[in-house]
Amino acid sequence: MRIIKLEPLFLAKKVLLLASFLIIPLIILNAEENIPLSEAAAKWKAVFSYDPLTQTGYILRNKDLVRFKKSYPVFLLGKDNALHAEAIIDNSKGLFIPESTFNAISAYFEEKDKERTSHFRIAAIIIDPGHGGKDPGAIGEFGSGKDKFKIQEKDIALAVGKDVYSSLQEKWPEKSILITRNSDVYPSLDERVDMANIMELGINEAIIFISIHANASFNKSASGYEVWYLNPDYRRTVMDDKKSVGVDSQVLPILNAMLEEEYTTESIFLAKNILSGMKKTLSPDIPDRGLRAEEWFVVRNAKMPSVLVELGFVTNEAEARRLADPAYLKSLSEGIYNGISDFIEYFENRKGNPLH
Ligand SMILES: [Zn+2]
Repeated sequence: MRIIKLEPLFLAKKVLLLASFLIIPLIILNAEENIPLSEAAAKWKAVFSYDPLTQTGYILRNKDLVRFKKSYPVFLLGKDNALHAEAIIDNSKGLFIPESTFNAISAYFEEKDKERTSHFRIAAIIIDPGHGGKDPGAIGEFGSGKDKFKIQEKDIALAVGKDVYSSLQEKWPEKSILITRNSDVYPSLDERVDMANIMELGINEAIIFISIHANASFNKSASGYEVWYLNPDYRRTVMDDKKSVGVDSQVLPILNAMLEEEYTTESIFLAKNILSGMKKTLSPDIPDRGLRAEEWFVVRNAKMPSVLVELGFVTNEAEARRLADPAYLKSLSEGIYNGISDFIEYFENRKGNPLH
């Protein structure tokens, strides 16, 4: 056995050398593991916000929200899921997210994307024949004596609405197909919209709302059909305040804007489909007045893709007489039904921005 007496300096060098092997990789490892949050957000194509006062923040990607508190190893995913992961830290250079946490949140976002793209379906369709009961809607009256001819919007809307409703029921027995009235009664506008808004929907489910009306004009020559959707410039509050308890107040406007955009896009797409469906079944000499954007009450308050169809003008005699013909109403309802069907088939097979 040989005893080697080490010189103190030599020993120090050895320790230093050993330490450098241990420490340098640690530093490198550390540098790899923590990603600046801004970089992580860019990778996710997300936005993030941090409030140094409360030391809380959020990461928002599409509609998926992740909330965090600095140095706290729990993240809130969406409304009620918790993720236990290494905390976001704040060093002198700003906020950093550990790589393992980055990966866990990436997995969450991917999962949410998958949920949205896989078997997205229209769970319910609500057909809303306008007016009814005490409210006849627009009225067209022509001639006199025994030639007197009168037509009411509420009757046309009901006939077409019921036909569209039963065709949809036949085609999609597994979907909830609802009609706001199937007789000459008057549900209030609130009642019509509530019927839609109280429906329980799964995360991948949507509901569409189609209101059916007929037009009137002082210009007796005005005729033709048109489809209305919500004006995209109109900012409605889509999210129910009650449902959003616990979400940062600053997040709500962002979420609202995004939901708004989504529904508007889908409403426009639904409106386009219905319009082209009608164009195909109606004779080419019936004027196609195109897509219109407005802030209709029924459409505005419906928190879903929703459109309003104007079948024609009861104030134009030739059109009023067409609208009194069951065969013409049948081609109108067929056109609407085909348009809704095309929309559903497209929507359920390819979720995303349907206009692109
Ligand atoms: Zn009307």
